[in-house]
Amino acid sequence: MQEQILKSKYDNGLKTHSWSWNRGKKNIYSKETLKKMSKSASKRIGEKGSNWRGGKTPELILLRASAKYKVWRNMVFLRDDFTCQDCGVVGGNLEAHHIKPFALFPELRFRIDNGITYCIKCHAKNDLRRRIPNDS
Ligand SMILES: [Zn+2]
Repeated sequence: MQEQILKSKYDNGLKTHSWSWNRGKKNIYSKETLKKMSKSASKRIGEKGSNWRGGKTPELILLRASAKYKVWRNMVFLRDDFTCQDCGVVGGNLEAHHIKPFALFPELRFRIDNGITYCIKCHAKNDLRRRIPNDS
């Protein structure tokens, strides 16, 4: 009973409010004024948007992703004693290679046992081999 009263009060209030708001505001601005207003508003949003969206958010995602990647890479290097697992070179331009391609196995992306240490030359060689499976 009380709920019913509250609900009808709320409904009435909402209806009168929105109705009078629409009626009151509808013809205050001329078409020309509205055009100008929407122009400056969209300009403002555009400027803010490029700073905010283009700058901070993806950067943060990238940073977090790359920080995680760096940790994974360092763990792979440590396990392999900073030694290329193909040609045996120690140190230098080492890269961590995903044994199972991380694009196809996102759940293995940061698994140490899915990583292997290669020097930059062997990484290119092994990556090429992986990308062209019929090339032996
Ligand atoms: Zn190598």
